[in-house]
Amino acid sequence: MSQKTEVEKLKEELLTERKNGASKVDAETLQKADDFCEDYKAFLNRAKTEREAVAAAVQLAEQAGFTPFDLQRQYQPGDKVYLVNREKAAVFAVIGQKRSREGVRIAVAHIDSPRVDLKPNPLYEANDLAFFKTHYYGGIKKYQWAAIPLSLHGKVMRKDGSSVTVRLGEEAGEPCFCITDLLPHLATEQMNKTVRKAFTGEDLNILIGSRPFRADSGSDLVKLNIMRLLHEKYGIVEQDFLSAELELVPAFPAVDIGFDRSMIGAYGHDDRVCAYPALMAAIDAKVPECTSVVILADKEEVGSDGNTGMNSSFLRYFIADLAMQDGMEARHVLSRSTCLSADVNAAFDPNYASAYEVNNSCHLNGGVVVTKYTGSGGKSGTSDASAEFAGRVRCMLDNAQVLWQTGELGKVDMGGGGTVAMFVANLNVDVIDVGVPVLSMHAPFEVVSKLDVYMAYRAFAAFFEAQGFNA
Ligand code: MN
Ligand code: MN
Repeated sequence: MSQKTEVEKLKEELLTERKNGASKVDAETLQKADDFCEDYKAFLNRAKTEREAVAAAVQLAEQAGFTPFDLQRQYQPGDKVYLVNREKAAVFAVIGQKRSREGVRIAVAHIDSPRVDLKPNPLYEANDLAFFKTHYYGGIKKYQWAAIPLSLHGKVMRKDGSSVTVRLGEEAGEPCFCITDLLPHLATEQMNKTVRKAFTGEDLNILIGSRPFRADSGSDLVKLNIMRLLHEKYGIVEQDFLSAELELVPAFPAVDIGFDRSMIGAYGHDDRVCAYPALMAAIDAKVPECTSVVILADKEEVGSDGNTGMNSSFLRYFIADLAMQDGMEARHVLSRSTCLSADVNAAFDPNYASAYEVNNSCHLNGGVVVTKYTGSGGKSGTSDASAEFAGRVRCMLDNAQVLWQTGELGKVDMGGGGTVAMFVANLNVDVIDVGVPVLSMHAPFEVVSKLDVYMAYRAFAAFFEAQGFNA
């Protein structure tokens, strides 16, 4: 009875096995995944913005012996360093046995997420209510941001050059903020519009107060009262909003999803769900063969431009500094380097099956997803990894028994999106996207599988540990 038929044998030999990854791994691996994700959830709750992610990552790294990169110091294999870029991006490196001579191994993830930013002149009053005007950041479906609790995060520079850090609406008992929505009873006109027209950027106004400053007469007294409270709490005046980066994000914490607790629902999985595993892989790296580099980048959600994005020279300069220590040129180090662009992909959602091509989509619990190219409209705006490099990555993952799958971002010509892969590839580095499948990507509440998160960590660790990979 247990004899395999000819068909079964041939299938096993020739075809790709398709089944839920959670039934392919043992109970111990699932337990490890669950444990890893407890720490990941704690990281998510601390790191809701790029600045907070950098601060949290640096703290974890320092606890593991990383020290600020010092150009004057000669580093030895096993040394762990980090370099922060304007509080919003950072690079972490573990010096390898071969130092930078055979190139470095780079895992790059981004730590900015779609959100709602304050405008430079945000505060106003309308009909006895006070609001903030906003300009959304990244690709959002605007209606998803109405009628949910929001918290305020960021930094304000005062006129005297001093600064204040803002984080309000996260702790129990703290006030939150929100964008109001129209009641269904009066929404006949709104409901007849397309979603794009029913919710516009200028509608995303944040409700922040309703009580006026007590006075005998005067206008804008609700606004005045809010500014009085802000001055009391943060020592700021209205003009200080111009020199501020204040961001509104969902106020709720990361939670387990499902009766089986197999998933995590949270704001900002994209792309902290790759950033955290990549950072942990660097933290756990002993003395790798090649210097291992983790970059936590900003500005990916708006195209990676700007001095904290991956289209800046930040990485190139850091590699140049490493190369100099080894008497090499940056271009030679980069040309021998390899990179995993660690970003999420869209997990197949049976509720929206028509947007996906099932055979080339990634699935929850399928493990880390290797994405050969992203882009849109006929592979535009992407780095298409070569067959050779895809082959090396595939073998590396198999050798380390990492559960992995492949996937494109939805159906051809359905839309599309990019990652930072092309910016690193443009430096003459071999790059492929490796990340975690996500449901409801870019929503205020995204969902990932715990097993996939853990497999991302295993994939980055395998990449740093592999021997002879930068061939
Ligand atoms: Mn992303
Ligand atoms: Mn994104």
